[in-house]
Amino acid sequence: MIGQLIDGKAIAAKLRGEVAEAAAALRKHPGIAPTLAVVLVGDDPASAVYVKSKTKAAREANVDVRDHKLPQSTTQDELMSLVRALNDDPIVDGILVQMPLPPQLDSDAVIRALDPAKDVDGLTATSLGNLAQGRPTFVSCTPKGCMRLLKEVNAHVEGARAVVLGRSLLVGKPIAMLLQNANATVTACHSRTRDLADEVRRADIVVAAIGKPELVKGDWIKDGAIVLDVGINRTAEGKLVGDVQFTAAAQRARAITPVPGGVGPMTIAMLLANTLRASARTSG
Ligand code: NAD
Repeated sequence: MIGQLIDGKAIAAKLRGEVAEAAAALRKHPGIAPTLAVVLVGDDPASAVYVKSKTKAAREANVDVRDHKLPQSTTQDELMSLVRALNDDPIVDGILVQMPLPPQLDSDAVIRALDPAKDVDGLTATSLGNLAQGRPTFVSCTPKGCMRLLKEVNAHVEGARAVVLGRSLLVGKPIAMLLQNANATVTACHSRTRDLADEVRRADIVVAAIGKPELVKGDWIKDGAIVLDVGINRTAEGKLVGDVQFTAAAQRARAITPVPGGVGPMTIAMLLANTLRASARTSG
């Protein structure tokens, strides 16, 4: 290991501490308590684990959680009624609908139904549109976490050549927009990109959000680049690895996130930060 290890766990802990302090201060005002509604539909084990850790982190950061667990057989009408009720509930500041939803449910329709003022996951067209226009808005938690990590390692984003791998609405597109808003020159790569290695070789900043174990080879990384590995993949041996060949990439990178313990912990911390922001806004 030659490059700096970006300790997302420690940075996220610091951020959660900041949220806890600010939430405690908000709570001193009568009737104000930052509150996140978490909707979990069905029995996907990975989703249940995510929801459990989000709930625990929220409570530790003085953010109240309203859990809504719905059965696998939930209908679209039932889920839409719950979302509308949460939109209208003045106690609820932020709404998180854990994805993926069971196959009979239309997740796009659910996202369209969310009140943008409570969209702490930054998924609505309003949030993404504001981001595209460079206006303040709720930004999807993982991309927001990536930008904070870049700040923590004093990355020179302005003018840098940034290559984003992946174009999902949850990660790839918003991180590309955030980097562009921060004046990087951004290349957005995806499954049809002709020569991924060639694109990555030119990058000062690489953000990999693909979901394919170690697809990005260590020798693609330019000397001195900063590498943020968003991917979380489980190998046949049950080990968690990222989208980047960590050991080889770390020989070349100036700074790199490990998997686990890099980008992952930042996602939950940013969800809490977004909920706090929602609460502060609604309470004036
Ligand atoms: P997704 O499946 O929605 O999107 C994957 C993207 O990768 C697509 O845009 C696709 O075009 C691109 N892609 C696929 N094959 C490619 C290839 N060969 N070359 C270049 N691009 C290719 O996934 P997502 O929701 O964006 O998540 C991506 C990864 O990040 C997954 O491993 C996921 O588990 C992880 N993730 C981690 C966090 C976190 O908190 N760390 C949060 C969200 C997602």
